[in-house]
Amino acid sequence: MPHNRARPEILVIILSSYNNKNTNWKTSLQSRSAPWTEKVSSTPKIVAISSLFTLFLLLPEIAGLQDFRGKVIHTNEYKNGADFRGRKVLVVGCGNSGMEVGLDLCNSGAQVSLVVRDQLHILPKEVLGRSTFALSMWLLKWLPVRLVDQFLLLCSRIVLGDIRKIGIKRPKIGPLELKNTTGKTPVLDVGAIAKIKSRDIEVVRGIKRFTSRGVEFEDGKADEFETVVLATGYRSNVASWLMEGGFFNRKDGCTKNLFPNNWKGKNGIYSVGFSGRGLLGVSIDAQRIAEDIASQWNSQMKHLRLEL
Ligand SMILES: Cc1cc2nc3c(=O)[nH]c(=O)nc-3n(C[C@H](O)[C@H](O)[C@H](O)COP(=O)(O)OP(=O)(O)OC[C@H]3O[C@@H](n4cnc5c(N)ncnc54)[C@H](O)[C@@H]3O)c2cc1C
Repeated sequence: MPHNRARPEILVIILSSYNNKNTNWKTSLQSRSAPWTEKVSSTPKIVAISSLFTLFLLLPEIAGLQDFRGKVIHTNEYKNGADFRGRKVLVVGCGNSGMEVGLDLCNSGAQVSLVVRDQLHILPKEVLGRSTFALSMWLLKWLPVRLVDQFLLLCSRIVLGDIRKIGIKRPKIGPLELKNTTGKTPVLDVGAIAKIKSRDIEVVRGIKRFTSRGVEFEDGKADEFETVVLATGYRSNVASWLMEGGFFNRKDGCTKNLFPNNWKGKNGIYSVGFSGRGLLGVSIDAQRIAEDIASQWNSQMKHLRLEL
């Protein structure tokens, strides 16, 4: 069953401001998954903000969506395909969520159309029996990104075939280089491509507007749907609650500094996972933060010992 790649739920900092007097942060935390709304306040010296727990659902503004009389959900609410058996479903967006939800719906007996608006890289989930992600990370230890990209594209061509033939265009730059420069994650195919090839899943173009019963597409075609699943991703919500202007961008809630200088702000504030480099970026940030905190702790202990 598809899983949600980012499910923000445990604890969310709803306010955080730096108190110059006490040199501490003032934070207020609230559970989003529990039914109660009790807030927990604390004044930590260090605040590490993780991208995975600070996300808003990205809900696109599409003309006429409010007039559509069918059901509209975001992939964040999607549980499994059984509820949609025999229904005509439009999945909007073809990142990893859109592809996996589209496949699950199709396997559950729904009639699925998938909106592919942009160019994208699709890679097999496994190459030579190993996870494509793990293999890429291993190759990157020895080879430059461009060479690893060439290898991945060759594997993709051998395993998945020419995806242009099923109406999906690839970006000009390779999957890992694209991830590093724009943060756009390649799709790891778990079976949707075979369903698109066999026409069990239909690929449709960008949406021009919704009508009360369906959609008009940019290429002039139109169709009726009972359900729309918005697989349109997430965006950072940090800008909406962090009372600190210097480190994070007010516009998109991402750090102003780019990789590799993205992880540390002033006054004990850190960020994990905002470099657009996926889990590898998370791991690099986490390691640097742990080392930085350890070195500050050690130097404080040294001073204390000298004072004693
Ligand atoms: C700063 C930040 C860091 C993150 N770091 C991580 C991480 O390290 N690991 C992790 O697992 N997750 C991370 N995430 C969450 C990340 O968004 C998801 O993991 C993953 O990208 C979600 O995949 P998705 O398919 O849901 O969305 P996306 O990959 O964003 O795909 C959405 C697709 O919808 C398409 N789309 C949008 N609007 C429309 C429209 N109107 N019509 C047609 N198509 C449309 C887009 O073009 C895109 O192809 C991070 C998020 C943010 C904001």
